[in-house]
Amino acid sequence: MLDVTPIPAFDDNYIWLLRHNRSAAVVDPGDADPVLGALDQSDLRLSAVVITHHHGDHTGGLEELTSVFPEARVFAPQDRRIPCVTDEVAEGAEVQIPGLPARFRVLEVPGHTATHIAYLGDGVLFCGDTLFAAGCGRVFDGTFEQLAASLERIAALPPETLIYCAHEYTLANLGFAAWVEPESSAVASRAAEARRRRASGEPTVPSHLAEELATNPFLRTGVPAVRHAAERYAGRALDSHSEVFAALRQWKDKRYD
Ligand SMILES: [Zn+2]
Repeated sequence: MLDVTPIPAFDDNYIWLLRHNRSAAVVDPGDADPVLGALDQSDLRLSAVVITHHHGDHTGGLEELTSVFPEARVFAPQDRRIPCVTDEVAEGAEVQIPGLPARFRVLEVPGHTATHIAYLGDGVLFCGDTLFAAGCGRVFDGTFEQLAASLERIAALPPETLIYCAHEYTLANLGFAAWVEPESSAVASRAAEARRRRASGEPTVPSHLAEELATNPFLRTGVPAVRHAAERYAGRALDSHSEVFAALRQWKDKRYD
């Protein structure tokens, strides 16, 4: 099993730290300072950075980290908005993290942004801002159709896959999930557990894909109760998963982040 721990950053970001012996890699370092602090504390050398998408809260630490660790490889999607990249990767690429027993396959998962990618390997998925615990990213420079298709791809992965997303949004997301499926005991019990963890300062992520399939409305567009809720919001019949998804996402945009 990979050794993966969260480095909290900004208000609600998680930068994921992967380590083996004295080598480390980080996923989506929006800020260099907490990463440098964590590396220093455990006497680790940064051998690689893995980027899911160009947003500043995922890439803002790149210049400082690569100046302190100039030998570090930087894996990222092809996107001129991302600095310091050494290895541009696309669908199907195999990423071997130097110094770590970690090998990932790249999945293109556009929608939150047009060039967003995810990294799958060893039973874990680093999915940036595509899928969140009980929610999903907003649509910025991708499209609703792209994000719906990307989430369907993730939903088809093995249900025991551990989902490492990049934000602690779970409680707010479960609030929306309860609007969509007020009768769901799975949503209610997940919310109770998430409240307990947050009250004791623990992260609510990673989660198992199985839990997302049971509680995340954006992965449940084929469930009649979810479709009916989306149709009530939209005020019309919705004929496809992608239309149900778009209505849910627009509904949530009005209520939450
Ligand atoms: Zn983002």
